[in-house]
Amino acid sequence: MQALMMNSQLMISSILKHAEKNFPEVEMVSVTVDSPRHRQTYKTFAKRCRQLANALSALGAEFGDRIGTLAWNDFRHMELYYGVSGSGMVCHTINPKLFPEQVAYIINHAEDKILFVDVLVMPLLEALKDHLSKVETIVVMTDRAHMPESTLPNVVCYEELLAEQSDEYEWPQFDENTASGMCYTSGTTGHPKGVVYSHRSTLLHALSGALPDVTTASNMETTLPVVPMFHVNAWGAPYAALMVGMKMVLPGPKMADGETLTDLMTSEEVTFSSGVPTIWLALLDYLAANNKTIPSLARVSVGGAACPRIIVERFREQHNCTVVQGWGMTETSPLGTIFSLKKGMENYSDEQMTDLQCLQGRGVFGIEMCIVDENNEELPWDGEAFGALKVRGPWVAKGYFGLSDVPGNEECPVDEKGWFNTGDVATISPDGFLQITDRTKDVIKSGGEWISSIEIENAAVNHEDIAEAAVIGRYHPKWTERPLLICVLQEGKSLSSEEVLEFLRGKLHKMAVPDGVEFVDELPHTATGKLNKLGLRKTFADYEFPAA
Ligand code: ADP
Repeated sequence: MQALMMNSQLMISSILKHAEKNFPEVEMVSVTVDSPRHRQTYKTFAKRCRQLANALSALGAEFGDRIGTLAWNDFRHMELYYGVSGSGMVCHTINPKLFPEQVAYIINHAEDKILFVDVLVMPLLEALKDHLSKVETIVVMTDRAHMPESTLPNVVCYEELLAEQSDEYEWPQFDENTASGMCYTSGTTGHPKGVVYSHRSTLLHALSGALPDVTTASNMETTLPVVPMFHVNAWGAPYAALMVGMKMVLPGPKMADGETLTDLMTSEEVTFSSGVPTIWLALLDYLAANNKTIPSLARVSVGGAACPRIIVERFREQHNCTVVQGWGMTETSPLGTIFSLKKGMENYSDEQMTDLQCLQGRGVFGIEMCIVDENNEELPWDGEAFGALKVRGPWVAKGYFGLSDVPGNEECPVDEKGWFNTGDVATISPDGFLQITDRTKDVIKSGGEWISSIEIENAAVNHEDIAEAAVIGRYHPKWTERPLLICVLQEGKSLSSEEVLEFLRGKLHKMAVPDGVEFVDELPHTATGKLNKLGLRKTFADYEFPAA
């Protein structure tokens, strides 16, 4: 029997319409290159999103076209999130901090038709000028007064473009499975891979993310996402905030600036903020050095990398603020698990509570998870057994843009049973708390950004005295993880750490140059002859990097 309910499609534009009607007075405050403190209401925001939709069509963009963004967290980037997706195009967010070749690859692979870029990103585009053959227009996200000089063809000013457009626009209705957004994730080897979100996945993800046990999003709260909008949709904040009418504060290019963050959070009375561990360590240091605190800040969510215990303790003891750790991936939109209590745990001692907060949290509704052994057999949730972490659900990727999405195919991340293999190794406690214990994918996460270990290994073995090299990530107090290079030297040769590092500088991106070099007689290998990184990580479990 068929139900008799309206088959309303889940549309991102519906969030915008809801916010405009119900929370027209709520503010969105931004730092941009052209304004230290820009303010607009959701009412103005909605109007400008409609102007943007008209502007896109005036520029010749059509349903399904990819529209790239290279920008920080601010109101114009928010307008792109809604204006682009709402009108049926795909909002493709790109990390401006990637290597220029990667940025060019991503833009070309996605076939971006128009690029919207922050003023500060223009030098990068100038450098890529000859590699962007498919881009028709570049819109600089500023006003006329702040437009940079440019040698690029078809450069347009965002504010002038909008000013020419009517604010009347009827948001189209279409299939909720239509692509709404795109974000590339860097793989271990080969090129970055495009994750493609839908209106349906984005909406369901935001609904779940706004639940009380997840982020306590509400009209009573003010949020400041420090997690960049070019990285997995700033963990869904741009959607969840408008759903519940939460005031947004957006730090623009000042994401890593302790003083600006403190000032913004204090004066705008931010209650909730989200970001990677490196950001919080820097902010905590700034607050300590300047004898400051942020009275309104009640909760911070931490994700993207394991949250060091010291972050939990310092926020509680020095700032009366609760740390909420979450685990996720670009492929999981990203929300997978997040810290939340079960009845009875509210009485835990500070020590016990910190233990819980240092785990990766519990699964949210919508995400099913399991851990499996080498034979793909499910392991118990006993907090002891550890295995490969797999997830599935309506906001988990089933394939990558332009690659096969047939389960089992090597290009497809999903197995025959429909589970997405995360590449993380974990235990799950009887209460459902996930603990990431290791990673099978061969990448290092430093300050929330990926570094390819293979790239470093390849560069190292180019040295004639190095016979074999392996790179693993090890704990670092500032970056959470940094690369450690372990080398086997050619017979009879000797090298110092500094000589190896000197050789690598200039061949690798600055962040990819290892923080430590160790020499061993041989490296461990698996039965199939591959480097056994799990073994290496055990051997170097207590490794400490030399002081810089
Ligand atoms: P994001 O940085 O948004 O989490 P990525 O796709 O770049 O998304 O990275 C996902 C990977 O980051 C995970 O597979 C895991 O290895 C690591 N990660 C994310 N959150 C955590 C966490 N809380 N603890 C440990 N590792 C994490």
